[in-house]
Amino acid sequence: MSSLYERHRAVAPDWLALYYRDPIELTHGEGRYVWDADGNRYLDFFGGILTTMTAHALPEVTKAVAEQAGRLIHSSTLYLNRPMVELAERIAALSGVPDARVFFTTSGTEANDTALLLATAYRGSNQILAMRNSYHGRSFSTVGITGNRAWSPTGLSPLQTLYVHGGVRTRGPYAQYTDERFVDACVADLEDLLGHTRDVAALIAEPIQGVGGFTSPPDGLYAAFRRVLERHGILWISDEVQTGWGRTGDHFWGWQAHGQAGPPDMLTFAKGIGNGMAIGGVVARAEIMNCLDANSISTFGGSPITIAAGLANLTHLQDNDLQGNARRVGALLMERLRSAVMGVEFVREVRGRGLMIGLELVRPGTDQPDPDVASAVLEAARERGLLLGKGGGHHTTALRIAPPLSLTAAEAEEGARILEEALRSVQNEGA
Ligand code: PLP
Repeated sequence: MSSLYERHRAVAPDWLALYYRDPIELTHGEGRYVWDADGNRYLDFFGGILTTMTAHALPEVTKAVAEQAGRLIHSSTLYLNRPMVELAERIAALSGVPDARVFFTTSGTEANDTALLLATAYRGSNQILAMRNSYHGRSFSTVGITGNRAWSPTGLSPLQTLYVHGGVRTRGPYAQYTDERFVDACVADLEDLLGHTRDVAALIAEPIQGVGGFTSPPDGLYAAFRRVLERHGILWISDEVQTGWGRTGDHFWGWQAHGQAGPPDMLTFAKGIGNGMAIGGVVARAEIMNCLDANSISTFGGSPITIAAGLANLTHLQDNDLQGNARRVGALLMERLRSAVMGVEFVREVRGRGLMIGLELVRPGTDQPDPDVASAVLEAARERGLLLGKGGGHHTTALRIAPPLSLTAAEAEEGARILEEALRSVQNEGA
């Protein structure tokens, strides 16, 4: 009998990204832990894939889904369902977007696709500004604007994309700049681009680049960009697929770290809100959301069973102040990780906000990004019972840490200790 992995390889596309030499078959989870088919337990420092926002198998979510499944699993957007309206009301109120309208999708990709559709229709242009090193999804249009070569396979796009500096500065021409000089240089770059074009529809940007390796532009970059965009009537889409729901600790949304920028014209969300159930969506100012003049529906967006999970999950998050927990435990973890990496020659930086922490890795003895060292650390951590994420692209390689927002201080310490052991074992093996 062939292994599950061999059976998977026989039917799955070759380009599907998989973690680990011997991929893990997960069977169940509880709290911040998951178990594999051999009964091994792992502390989940990647929160699914930033999807398990509160906790694995959160009883309130399980109960809400089971009860909803017993009543009505699905209704398309042709009909009303109470959970969908209630969650839309709550997200609209939380979003900060004035006169907000909400449209539910089933993924982050589809949310961004919809935002691009709205922006191009509203502005009558198919030109989009995107950030270098960005990631926005895997559909034709979202891959077409993704500024990360590792995730953008064809280079073809239905949109005309112009890539802006500002998402990452670990390397490249602006690496040594102070924050202020960096912001000035990125704004000058943006102005320069706009001098060569007309009628750009929108800038889409992640407040912290997720797949790109948890790289943050300095606070104030998007505020400075916004002033330029407003002069040209260009819309700002904040892709909050990874940064929403309080993950960054100090703020509920990533755009709020760029305070003077004000709320975006549109924000897109997905991942954490359903605690693993497939919910995505767009929040847009009414005049933008309503600019389409043909009918549209979503067959699965806003389906009561997924939305029931979202409502229960959001209630748990707010009632238990998990944003505050992300701030407090995130700060402890950051401090602990900074001491854990001391003397590890291939860790160049520990960065992030709240429970969204990246460790920048380099090829030992060089200053170059090194995906192999990231894979080696992932394997070493897995052997010791810790799951991590990795990320990056042309400019950076990073380990990504984004556990459920209910992580306790003791679990943060456990994860940091295992990660320290894993880093040191990779260092010793490489020596
Ligand atoms: N936008 C960002 C910032 C993401 O990180 C992702 C997924 O990782 C997406 C969009 C696409 O979301 P999905 O995988 O749900 O289609």
